[in-house]
This record gives sequence, structure tokens and C-alpha cells, in this order.
Amino acid sequence: MGTETSAECQSCGDESTLTEVRRVYVTPADWDTESKITPADDTEQWCDACVLHYPHQPV
Ligand SMILES: [Zn+2]
Repeated sequence: MGTETSAECQSCGDESTLTEVRRVYVTPADWDTESKITPADDTEQWCDACVLHYPHQPV
């Protein structure tokens, strides 16, 4: 009990096949600023659904 390490997506928590990605934070453009993409410092393990739906960079 409790010794198995199940792989959980670090974005939504689903147990799934995971892909290592680097999350990016997208700041939308405003009237006085350009849009900006800031990559996170650390990589995360994401499921296929999150990889499809959220901005990231491949690792
Ligand atoms: Zn997910």
C-alpha cells in the first residue's frame, strides 16, 4: 500500500501517459504592451489533454 508511484499530470492531476513540458505564461497584448511569453523555470509532467490545451514548450 502506498509504494506505487502513479504518474499524475502536474497540471490537472489525471493519471495518464505523461509528457515532460515547460509551462509558459502568456500575457495577452494590451493597448500599450505587446503580448509576452514567459517560460517557467522548471519542467512539469503533463497528460495529453493538457499538452493539447495549454501553452508550453517541448523539453
Ligand atoms: Zn493534465
